[in-house]
Amino acid sequence: MSRITDGIVTVDSIINPGWVLPITRCGEILKETSVAITDGIISHIIPREKSKNFISKKNFELPNHVLLPGLINCHGHAAMSLLRGLADDIPLESWLQNIIWPIERKYISETFVRDGTELAIAEMLLSGTTTFSDMYFFPETVADVAIKSGMRCQISFPILDFPSNWAESTDEYLKKGLAMRDNFRHVDLISTIFGPHSTYTLNESSLVNISTLASELDIGVQIHLHETNQEVVQGLAKNDERPIETLLKVGLLGPKTQCVHMTELNSEDIKLLNQTGAQVIHCPESNMKLASGISPINKLLDADINVGLGTDGAASNNDLDLFGELKSAALLAKINTMDATSLTAAEALTLGTLGGAKVLGMDKSIGTIEVGKLGDLIAVNLDHVAMQPIHDIFSQLVYLNSGSQVTHSWIQGQLVVQDSKLLTIDQTDLRQRILNWQKLLTNEL
Ligand SMILES: [Zn+2]
Repeated sequence: MSRITDGIVTVDSIINPGWVLPITRCGEILKETSVAITDGIISHIIPREKSKNFISKKNFELPNHVLLPGLINCHGHAAMSLLRGLADDIPLESWLQNIIWPIERKYISETFVRDGTELAIAEMLLSGTTTFSDMYFFPETVADVAIKSGMRCQISFPILDFPSNWAESTDEYLKKGLAMRDNFRHVDLISTIFGPHSTYTLNESSLVNISTLASELDIGVQIHLHETNQEVVQGLAKNDERPIETLLKVGLLGPKTQCVHMTELNSEDIKLLNQTGAQVIHCPESNMKLASGISPINKLLDADINVGLGTDGAASNNDLDLFGELKSAALLAKINTMDATSLTAAEALTLGTLGGAKVLGMDKSIGTIEVGKLGDLIAVNLDHVAMQPIHDIFSQLVYLNSGSQVTHSWIQGQLVVQDSKLLTIDQTDLRQRILNWQKLLTNEL
């Protein structure tokens, strides 16, 4: 709690940036404004002249910086950062079946996941992401690394109908995932939901089982859905249903369903998303790189469907810089509609913050700068020569290389990046471990 004595307010941190983007109203910019954090929560947003009435343990003078909510990466497979650049320029199906899945069967272990996740978190923290969602094996290890790094994480624990190095059967995936959820349910930084991989890797009875458990426990589900035209064609050939219809039938389509990709959509699909209140996660760069398709996010947004952004794994992106994803989302929306007004820079930034928070069901606590919300904030330095002149803050953040200009990052009030240096991860040690993996995995080429 902040204390007031003789008109002087005592807080933990006070940040004095050049600009504040609260994101509560699309396009709004505050100048001469200070933001204070106390006990991990945004306690005050005040005109700069009033900050003289504040005493803080830490003071951040950032005159060339813009302060905004931390970015939210709604979909990824963090440990796959170890496979970055190992298999590029290959279509999705052969990429998965001939390269990624065989390598995963051979190498995935707790150590692989620990090192790969730490690499991913280092990259995400340094480029402005403060919350990420992960769908990968050994999710308890992912949660461990996230906690140690001070990063917020939604775990979508993986469920498949075929064995992996983490679980032998569908039942074992569920048993281990739910045990993991129990272990971490009281940890602030971690939330856990179901992560059924897709309708083509799980049969109908497994999906029904997940649906029953999800409604009993009242927790969400994240699933790859309509990633490619081929996936939809296969669904129709198999049981005369589009994958989204299968999800509806098994009771897995609702406001807590996070549908990843959604490139192949007809008007009935969009109507279903709207009627059920399901969430969409747009991964523009992964969709482009794997030539999967283009999600029609303008149509989704026009139909009042909430959209967040994700990078997907580094093996299909190949970076985890969400600022890059904002730019790609904006550009792709424009070329898809042949309309330059589609998805403005300010709208793209809203998807990467508040949109993502809504997807994860966390918009009451993160996604905007408001008093009472958690202190998940980032500062981006606009002083670099390539960022000049500064006519439009949103344009600078979305269309320029902003991820590399992130200098500070706070998660729940804890400083995790300061002056572009990671405070929670030993990069020297991490680099050595990654080098060892590089030598090992290079033999697969
Ligand atoms: Zn994915």
